[in-house]
Amino acid sequence: MLGHVDHGKTSLLDKIRGSTVIEGEAGAITQHIGATAVPLDVVGEVAGSLVDPTEFDLPGLLFIDTPGHHSFTTLRSRGGALADIAILVVDVNDGFQPQTEEAIKILADSETPFVVAANKVDTIPGWQVTEDAPIQQTLEAQSDRVEQQFNEKLYEIIGELSDAGFTSDFYWRVQDFRSNVGVVPVSAMTGEGIPDLLAVLMGLAQRYMKEDMEIDVTGPGAGTVLEVKEERGFGTTLDVILYDGTVRADDTVVVGGVNGPIVTDVRALLKPRPLAEIRTESRFEKVDEIAAAAGVKIAAPDLDDAIAGAPVRVVRNRDLDDVIADVQAELAEVAVDTGEEG
Ligand code: GDP
Repeated sequence: MLGHVDHGKTSLLDKIRGSTVIEGEAGAITQHIGATAVPLDVVGEVAGSLVDPTEFDLPGLLFIDTPGHHSFTTLRSRGGALADIAILVVDVNDGFQPQTEEAIKILADSETPFVVAANKVDTIPGWQVTEDAPIQQTLEAQSDRVEQQFNEKLYEIIGELSDAGFTSDFYWRVQDFRSNVGVVPVSAMTGEGIPDLLAVLMGLAQRYMKEDMEIDVTGPGAGTVLEVKEERGFGTTLDVILYDGTVRADDTVVVGGVNGPIVTDVRALLKPRPLAEIRTESRFEKVDEIAAAAGVKIAAPDLDDAIAGAPVRVVRNRDLDDVIADVQAELAEVAVDTGEEG
């Protein structure tokens, strides 16, 4: 999720989380460390007629809690962007702002497929709210005057995208999402358009999956550090997005650090404990193994020098020196990025 400050990135993530909690079976969505997993059947429920789960061979969507575009640039996986797909959030009243322009540039440079969430449609004067409705349905409830304003605002964004070098259109008119950016009108406040957003994301994922999104869910894990955090009872820990393979509680891992790769043994693998159980116990639950794609907290010795954005690799049956060399090579890239951003 990228976009200018206050355009609604946090609200949109919260809304997606909220609606999937309500619509889904209990426990169907899982809160990860630094991410939220929305399984396919829950996407199907939220998106209603817009998504037929039987048409997809994906497990669902994993939303990464990237609070800003700054972290987006440093969050990489093997040279590419960590996220397979991005959502560029644009406030329909504000249009493109400096951070929107920066975000577009990042997306273009990293060749990350993206959709535009044209947010806050509910603020159009006279807007009639149909909570959590698909956008076509809510548009039917609007007066001609509101619909005209809606179109004007959306066309402004489409124009701005064109100035930035991207052909785009209302998402329902886009035939080929490779050459055209889909614009999805949404409200993070009312949930309108959220079904559409999930449907478009699923469509994109399915399309790109065939080529370069294949995830290995059995081999030694590969991930990216979201944050380095002190955690009571565990010392310094890593919040990691695991994008390939598995990590186990008895693995040796190599992590990028300030002074080069750190080799350490996992002490504990942690995921958030369900809310209901937090009061009596630690916020975290220990697990033996976690498979991509997932967010996980890794507790291990010697993590003080680890850096956000750095690669994490599980060694397991591979040669330790090879793994260290891999991490070293990727670390060079992260360092260059950080330098450029000052
Ligand atoms: P971020 O800085 O991009 O994460 O933006 P936030 O999610 O914090 O949103 C900024 C402000 O806009 C907050 O006051 C939100 O309540 C408000 N906001 C976000 N989305 C919507 C929306 O769809 N409709 C309305 N009316 N307000 C919104």
